[in-house]
Amino acid sequence: MLGNLFTLDYEIHGNGEGSPYQLMVAPTDRMLEQFDRYGAKLTIMADVAEILKFKEHFEATGKDTFDYLKIEEQLKRAIATGHDVQLHIHSSYFKSKLVDGRWQQHWDEYSLADLPYQRVKEMIQTCKAYLESLLTAVDSTYRCHAFRAANWSMSPSQNIVKALIEEGINIDTSVFKYGKRNDRVKFDYTHSHSDLLPWPVDVLDVCKKDPDGELVEIPIYTELKNVWAFLTPNRVFRVFQASQHKHAKYDEPDMEEQEPAAQNNASKFSKLMSFFTDKHAWKFDFNQCTGTQLIRGLKRIDRQYGHLEKKLPVVLIGHSKIFTKINEKSLAPFLDFIASNPDKYCFAKFGDFDLQSFKEEVTS
Ligand SMILES: [Zn+2]
Repeated sequence: MLGNLFTLDYEIHGNGEGSPYQLMVAPTDRMLEQFDRYGAKLTIMADVAEILKFKEHFEATGKDTFDYLKIEEQLKRAIATGHDVQLHIHSSYFKSKLVDGRWQQHWDEYSLADLPYQRVKEMIQTCKAYLESLLTAVDSTYRCHAFRAANWSMSPSQNIVKALIEEGINIDTSVFKYGKRNDRVKFDYTHSHSDLLPWPVDVLDVCKKDPDGELVEIPIYTELKNVWAFLTPNRVFRVFQASQHKHAKYDEPDMEEQEPAAQNNASKFSKLMSFFTDKHAWKFDFNQCTGTQLIRGLKRIDRQYGHLEKKLPVVLIGHSKIFTKINEKSLAPFLDFIASNPDKYCFAKFGDFDLQSFKEEVTS
């Protein structure tokens, strides 16, 4: 049985711009309504760091400019109607400042995984306590037990893995096999343990399994594909949207790092060529892939893993800010496909899996 977990990163633009109502509340309302029609379950990965800033602004000014109250109401509604809310943290919000209507990020704390252990622990503790206090009022059994790092950055792993365990979070869902970044955050998940099967993680390296590991990685399902697989209407929309809301520091090239013009052009050309010939990490993204791509993807997963007896999580990722009407229409056949094949597929939440069974498999 393949349990489909729709995890939704719930946040405004990464540079602190945008309306929380338009980018979070309104699209997630539409998504919850659509999911309810198919009996599907949504897991909202709420960026609590920014939500706490919206709350602070409301409490300090009496003005709910960032729709904090609607966000709170939406998270409660999700829990009350059988969906889930888990933790996502963009750490650069904690010390961010509101300048001209935009949350100016505190770049020194951009990469959570690079911060000192005590600071990481403090942030996780604050955010987890917030979610549990808000949501146990709706369901006394609610627990914040799963985490996704901002920008998928779980590297270096030691501080963040230790802090998650210390704070009682036993699932991480940041890793996607083949993923690589080498800019403001740095990670290389090329050799991570699996593209789909969960593993107990080695404290020193989230990509490696350690039979005694207390934190279980449930990776975002990923395949290697050439660039043409990425050409979907919503991905074009996402690229356009990102170009309109760039991080301030990215806009200023560092002159000392500029290469001579001729060399620069040659290297740009070879980079462009390899962009078309190389394969890239194609995440199972329910906002950027089409419904047809998702159905085909799930059938491939079934061929590879469907024979295993235990219930396996298939983690999909999405972002509320790119849930367009086109996406809503395109997603419908995929939700219908899962609902219509209950012998093989189901909708799931993180609490539906036996984590211990994933640990045992490793030791046997
Ligand atoms: Zn995020």
